[in-house]
Amino acid sequence: MEPDVTRTYQKFETLWKVISALGRAAGKIQWDQQVMMPKQGGDMCAEELAALEEIHHERMVDNELWRILCDLRHAASEGFLDSMQSANVRLALRDADRARVIPVSLASDIARQACIGEQVWEEAKGRNDFAMFAPHLAKMIKLKRAYARYLAADLKDLYTPLLQDYEPDFTAAEVTKLLSDLREQLTPLVERVISMPQPDCSVLKKVYNADGLHRLSQRVISLMGFAGGEDSRLDVSAHPFCTGTLKDVRMTTRFVPEDGLEAFYSTLHEAGHGLYERNLPYDQAGMPVASAVSLGVHESQSRFWEVLVGKSRSFLRYIFPELQNTFPDMLANENSDSLYRAFNAAQLTPIRVNADPLTYNLHIIVRVDLEPLLISGDLEVLALPEAWNRRFKELFGFTPSDDAHGSLQDTHWSGGSFGYFGTYTLGNELSCQLYEACHAAYPDLENHIAAGDLMPARHWLREHIHRHGSLYDAKTLIKKATGKPLGCEALMRFFKKRYEDVYQTSL
Ligand SMILES: [Zn+2]
Repeated sequence: MEPDVTRTYQKFETLWKVISALGRAAGKIQWDQQVMMPKQGGDMCAEELAALEEIHHERMVDNELWRILCDLRHAASEGFLDSMQSANVRLALRDADRARVIPVSLASDIARQACIGEQVWEEAKGRNDFAMFAPHLAKMIKLKRAYARYLAADLKDLYTPLLQDYEPDFTAAEVTKLLSDLREQLTPLVERVISMPQPDCSVLKKVYNADGLHRLSQRVISLMGFAGGEDSRLDVSAHPFCTGTLKDVRMTTRFVPEDGLEAFYSTLHEAGHGLYERNLPYDQAGMPVASAVSLGVHESQSRFWEVLVGKSRSFLRYIFPELQNTFPDMLANENSDSLYRAFNAAQLTPIRVNADPLTYNLHIIVRVDLEPLLISGDLEVLALPEAWNRRFKELFGFTPSDDAHGSLQDTHWSGGSFGYFGTYTLGNELSCQLYEACHAAYPDLENHIAAGDLMPARHWLREHIHRHGSLYDAKTLIKKATGKPLGCEALMRFFKKRYEDVYQTSL
């Protein structure tokens, strides 16, 4: 590198590492809010987060940073930067550009409305009162529409810029196409599976002791290669999540008595997210490249461990004796096969978060069909419950009993997360593509899993996904790791194989 370029790049690193540290500090406060904070700490917590956000924003739109980034963009085009450095400049320009384009007042209006909207939504859902939530949803849609207008390349497509907050390399048209391709193949398979005699799932309805579930959760995290309190934590929160990165990964799980053993799977899910964060390129810590490339890729990691590994026959064969030792009375009449069938049983339920892997993506299709219409204004907020029920009936064959089980069930829209839902399906599709590629590299992968050895899978994911961070865009990364662009074929092959095995039939 030229001496001038070296100095400029060092300045960029210094400035960016502060921005990154401010973001991580906010993440720790949010973790504290959900895991540790006394009930009455909420007001002070909101002030702390707002103060950090203000400084973060000031640093991000700083003119000196922008000048440095423009110089470095030029240096990169002249070949003076290596690939990691060029990626850091490209990603920082993208983030700084977004921050500079959106007026601060609009960003803070959205943040405030998200806070109010989430509270009202929670109450409205509890009371099954859509009319109570409607004005807040309408306000948020208006704000997000204004936000999208600042970023849109084409004002006729305001959904793409919203979606790109989560999935920067995909357009609305591409996500819609992926979902419609999947829908075409998935619907007939769901119909066939649902019409089969169903496995006995009563084992999932029992109440399991939280201490036992916590011990099993810790156990599975160490099987995945976390070093316990050295590099990660597992705590309890109302909604499971994962935050933190590199050598400080924080995962949470929840123990809801009527959720049976599902807590065990929510730990596996969050630990999949955690492993991605844990293995991002440490030598780039604090720089943009040391971050996950997109939410879809992130979700592919959690689903890989939760569904492909965790709910497989091989893994259940390994972990069953430990489950039975932990819950001898509850699991006295079970074996690994009966648990395998219960955990994988497919069922049409109105609630997305309770859905099994097979029917889950139908829930996403309902939402992604409706979101662009809400943003464009073609669907009025007051007409949403009816549109939801109509669309739901087409896909599921029945109408939800009320709005709390219909259009009011998810928190996402109340907080302004439009364009988020599609990333779940992208992640599901990618998890299967990755599993196939990993299996091709380790033909005896399932024997390792059946012996409790999860290291080949961890190693493969680290090598092909984690260590690259955001060096490549999502599409390039997917192609490099799996040899193919993202599609529904691997997911459909997985469904067919898994459900033929669970239902002992040919599909
Ligand atoms: Zn997830």
